[in-house]
Amino acid sequence: MTVSSFYPPQRTLMGPGPSDVNPRVLAAMARPTIGHLDPEFVRMMDEIKELLQYAFKTKNELTLPISAPGSAGMETCFANLVEPGDKVLVCINGVFGMRMVENVTRMGGEAITVNNDWGTPVDVSQVEEALIANPEVRVLAFVHAETSTGVRSDAQALCKLAQAHNCLSIVDTVTSLAGVELQVDEWGCDAVYSGTQKCLSCPPGISPITMSEKAVAAIQARNTPVQSWFQDLSLVMGYWGGGAKRAYHHTAPVNALYGLHESLVMLQEEGLENSWQRHADMHGMLRDGAEAMGLDFLVDESCRLPQLNSICIPDGVDEAAVRSQLLNDYDLEIGAGLGALAGKVWRVGLMGQAAKATNVRLFLDAMGTALGD
Ligand SMILES: *Cc1c(COP(=O)(O)O)cnc(C)c1O
Repeated sequence: MTVSSFYPPQRTLMGPGPSDVNPRVLAAMARPTIGHLDPEFVRMMDEIKELLQYAFKTKNELTLPISAPGSAGMETCFANLVEPGDKVLVCINGVFGMRMVENVTRMGGEAITVNNDWGTPVDVSQVEEALIANPEVRVLAFVHAETSTGVRSDAQALCKLAQAHNCLSIVDTVTSLAGVELQVDEWGCDAVYSGTQKCLSCPPGISPITMSEKAVAAIQARNTPVQSWFQDLSLVMGYWGGGAKRAYHHTAPVNALYGLHESLVMLQEEGLENSWQRHADMHGMLRDGAEAMGLDFLVDESCRLPQLNSICIPDGVDEAAVRSQLLNDYDLEIGAGLGALAGKVWRVGLMGQAAKATNVRLFLDAMGTALGD
């Protein structure tokens, strides 16, 4: 069989990620590959670090992109901060909280959970009670922006609680970074990971992380080596943090990092706060149009993520048929419900470059037609 080159269709990506990628980012990724220890590449790595500090609103020295998707950023945080026997309090209000439990267990830790209904935020007072009841807990882990439901939890209050109870916080910001307010230093978040394919609008495959001084000290004070060689941050730091004397750890995904660099340059051009505001504005436009069509949102407006809209499927509507129609007739991708919400909601993403008025109009037009049929 002779296989010819692959040309993907032109889609508009309004699901839970990946989101639309700007041509500038794609063009950056098509530039010539250079050596990953080339002084020019090292210079670019330093710029990425600075730009990530800007996006996370942090001065943390340990701020870098992990060469693997968001799930690997998650695993890196748990692998470095959890030792066998450690108790970790995990907040579950959707799919990604459940994955955190899986990570704790596989690191040999013991997960204690606080469970909240899908579609509601993490209950801060319940977390406080659990921390009081379990004083030996060392780490509090939660998801800032639950992509499976479209809920924003109060990261500031939760990180404050962690500090008051002498815990480190692990915060999933895969969907929140650049889409809603996130203040790593001001809120006192300790171990924070994200992804490139949500509100940064890059192709998937990279996971920016940042660690506070307290988190770094905890890694340095470990009794056991990190069980994953690749994810051991004390080794990765020699590559990313070694200044001119960079030691080989692994070969960085050179062209993927060109793309991340360009997307962060674009974020800086727009301004982080302006990006948050644009996501809020586009959500407002989507909400008004969807409600005018008689559609309801799963999540209360007070804790709704502008970048991930869970829209309830009206009675009698074949949700999968609607998604197929949007894809086939409009080249428009939206997401299905996940886990407990499968068959109950569509997930409509307004992430990064996808958060623009033409996309909102396209969605409203397409959905109006599909529901009319
Ligand atoms: C997408 C996502 C992840 C996982 O990222 P991948 O790049 O798919 O591995 C983790 N947490 C949240 C909240 C996400 O939305």
